[in-house]
Amino acid sequence: MAPDRKPAFIREDAAYHSFCGLACVGWLYQKIKDSFFLILGTHTCAHFLQNTMGVMVFARPRFGIALIEETDLSRPQPELHALIEEIKADHHPSVIFLLSSCTPDVMKVEFQGLADSLSTPSLPVLFVPASGLEYTFSQSEDSVLQALLPFCPVAAPDDRRVVFLGSVNDAIADDFLAEAEQLGIPVAGFLPSTHFTELPAIGAGTIIAPLQPYLAKVAQLITNERGATLLSSLFPFGPDGTRAFWEDLAAQFGIMVDLSEREARSWAAIASHTERLRGKKIFFTADNLLELPLARFVQSAGAEVQECSSPYINRRFHARELAALDGVRVVEQPNYNRQLRDMHADPPDLVISTMGTTNPLLGAGIVAKWSTEFAFMPIHGWAGVPSLVGMFTRSIDRHAQLGKLDDPVWTAGLMPSIPLEQA
Ligand code: SF4
Repeated sequence: MAPDRKPAFIREDAAYHSFCGLACVGWLYQKIKDSFFLILGTHTCAHFLQNTMGVMVFARPRFGIALIEETDLSRPQPELHALIEEIKADHHPSVIFLLSSCTPDVMKVEFQGLADSLSTPSLPVLFVPASGLEYTFSQSEDSVLQALLPFCPVAAPDDRRVVFLGSVNDAIADDFLAEAEQLGIPVAGFLPSTHFTELPAIGAGTIIAPLQPYLAKVAQLITNERGATLLSSLFPFGPDGTRAFWEDLAAQFGIMVDLSEREARSWAAIASHTERLRGKKIFFTADNLLELPLARFVQSAGAEVQECSSPYINRRFHARELAALDGVRVVEQPNYNRQLRDMHADPPDLVISTMGTTNPLLGAGIVAKWSTEFAFMPIHGWAGVPSLVGMFTRSIDRHAQLGKLDDPVWTAGLMPSIPLEQA
């Protein structure tokens, strides 16, 4: 692609269908070990969290819901002081995140003022916009990190180190630390850190290296407020993305490395998987905001990406991934009916789709996988390559016996009201 040509993608519906933003609590409360996540929500939110995370009531997890009842509709602001005292006594957190949800958003609860009134110098209560009305489940991590930024110490301008941006599990974080050390890259830490009290220093000399593709807003905020440099590279998914990530990051520190042999070894280690992926048609319907790097990886692995759709695409933050997908149909906020018609016309071998649409697709004989699972798996960096490729091949293998679109259930059951002939 010519370097001055803008990578092409289209936007269809200006709306998206994704998992609720509250789901980020599932991985962030485990990552930030001295935190508590308090959601002001309804019974719907409580059921959602309990079902999503399989929480048993006696497990005493470090998150909870302050339920809004009908009687609260007449009150100016919810009263949470007693609940905060209870959380302090039971969990001794260093920080409490106060998450919004749909109903209080509609009720116009003034969350920032509420969080400020609950905060004390020794225990900050931080407002995190996360309602399912506005945020996909992965984007709400962006909101949490924005709330944390003011608590990151300001690094001296000559403190030139990298801060890895995005939550990954501890084993993957250790892998990144080991790789950075081997390449001679100085590390200031991770945002988020494993403890609120250990947030990394960020300043004008900091290089921000995004690990997750759904953190565009906090990345921009950091560069605006702290003058840090944002690494522009592929995200570290798959052998190709991981090689580009480390080579580009090392170059920021004047270290020129050629990781082509490392990449070749990584591909060789998953050759039995890539053989099964070669020529397979894969369709991403838009959900987890990981779609661009995932599609780029499976394309590099030999698959054909029929469509890569995502709820949100940022031209600058995703520039390298968009460039790598040149020639692929890339859609922001796609129209699901149109996608179904496209699948009918050219049946995919695997669809990566939302929680709400995967089971109906499976019922219609389409091999489909919950995109949500990718957000919970250790798929970053060199260490994550086997897990990443296995996410695709396991689904194809497991459902290989299912029928495809010529199964009568497709037209009779899934799309009874869609006039295919008019598509
Ligand atoms: S925040 Fe909204 S979308 Fe999320 S569980 Fe609550 S009601 Fe549902």
